[in-house]
Amino acid sequence: MDFAARSARALAFDRPVPYLARVGLLAAVYFSAAKLSLLAAIPPGYATAVWPPSGIALASVLLLGSRIWPGIWLGASLVNVTVQSSLVAATLMGAGNTLEALAGAALVRALIGLPGAFRRGEDVVKFVVIAAASATIAATVAAAPLAFVHSLQLPELLWNWWTWWQGDTVGIMVVAPLILAWAVRTHPAWTPRKIAEGSLLVGLLSGVMYAIFGAGMASYIPSLPLTFAILPFIIWAAFRFRQREVATVNALVCAMAVWFTLEGSGPFAQGSLNESLLLLLAFLCTVVTTGLVLNAVIADRGRAVVATQRLLQELREQTIRDSLTSLYNRRFLQDYLERELIRARRERAPLALIMMDLDRFKRINDSAGHQAGDQVLVQVGALLKRHVRGSDIACRYGGEEFAVVLPKTTLESARRRSAEICSAIRREAELLCGVTASLGVALCPAHATDAEELIRAADHALYEAKKAGRNQVRIFAGPTGSAREKAG
Ligand code: GH3
Ligand code: MG
Ligand code: MG
Repeated sequence: MDFAARSARALAFDRPVPYLARVGLLAAVYFSAAKLSLLAAIPPGYATAVWPPSGIALASVLLLGSRIWPGIWLGASLVNVTVQSSLVAATLMGAGNTLEALAGAALVRALIGLPGAFRRGEDVVKFVVIAAASATIAATVAAAPLAFVHSLQLPELLWNWWTWWQGDTVGIMVVAPLILAWAVRTHPAWTPRKIAEGSLLVGLLSGVMYAIFGAGMASYIPSLPLTFAILPFIIWAAFRFRQREVATVNALVCAMAVWFTLEGSGPFAQGSLNESLLLLLAFLCTVVTTGLVLNAVIADRGRAVVATQRLLQELREQTIRDSLTSLYNRRFLQDYLERELIRARRERAPLALIMMDLDRFKRINDSAGHQAGDQVLVQVGALLKRHVRGSDIACRYGGEEFAVVLPKTTLESARRRSAEICSAIRREAELLCGVTASLGVALCPAHATDAEELIRAADHALYEAKKAGRNQVRIFAGPTGSAREKAG
């Protein structure tokens, strides 16, 4: 499935919208956004400081595929008809806007890939460059009809090119990431705490923006170039929120900055219109790029931390697990037993260790093959897992030898549990190629108090079980005395 198809599926459309309806809808959205943007047009009204429709067009092509282009062309041409007198000029300009979106989308697909959310900081920088490059197309295509229809001289033409280019670049940079981030459905819901934090951020940010840019504050605050005070809020958003919220904060800052500058207030409205626009462009680019780059880098770092933690967990599991049976291994048993023995002594609770060795296992390997032998080991491992409680652990001690640690277990209980394992193996004769097991049991503190001693005692009892004819349980009865109790 290509990106457009995936995006269309991920979009909030529950039912597929017919192609022509989509084209019509996009044309209407483009037209309305453009008419709103034209309210902020620079006299005499050919070009605007920010052109959000360009961002809408790029996001639409990325989300719905290149086939949606007639919607852009129609919307853009209709808008230009309402501004330009000539139909030919308007459709030409519409074609420029359409080409801008198609070229931008092709570049985004080729250089960034999935733009639902920028995955890396470099992707944002690439996106800014793509926005600037594709805006060149629309500004240049529009220059010829503008010059022709309005008989513009070169300086005026260059000025129009520049405002057109800047408007489209900022429109793409601010609006496209906003739409793309909100269009994809993969985000978890907001928690009440996040809503409170987001509201505080937006409230404080709006207040600071108003204090810096608003004309109403001029009598209270000296008109200083305090625009850098916005950056802490952008950093706040980038660290604490996802890309969709960062893009929203970016859009809010841009909207307020453009609005106040066009009203003639704020630090950017001091020089000529040309200077104001240049300052505005530099400011908006800094805000948008900082927010998006930081957010992408932080999200990337978050993913890397999660992946590393997962890897470390897997590695840890690998070092303590036996790869064939996935039971714990001998190394883990050693550590675990030492820890549990300290606890057993502290809590004065008995602890039992069962050592188990499969009887005449070599014969299975010899008769049925090594692989069949492995399968028997896997089945015995599964059987042991079924027989341990939450606080017990079963290990593959090595070869066809297993160990089970039973904390807080009395002699009687250990005897019963070992006998159950021994007879369960007998019952599974068919699955286990008729193999039986011998088990030796030792207890702390009755037979030993440290790990090594306890393992030796259980091993000794196991040896006694083998000597007594196999397929049975023996409890440790001292190093010299023969293991005395048969419980199998
Ligand atoms: P018994 O313990 O009853 O005295 O006889 P046994 O035949 O089981 O003898 P022993 O315990 O000394 O031998 C263990 C055999 O288990 C040797 C080896 O061929 C086999 N074995 C050890 N590890 C594996 C393994 O991972 N896979 C398979 N298939 N066989 C193994
Ligand atoms: Mg054996
Ligand atoms: Mg053995």
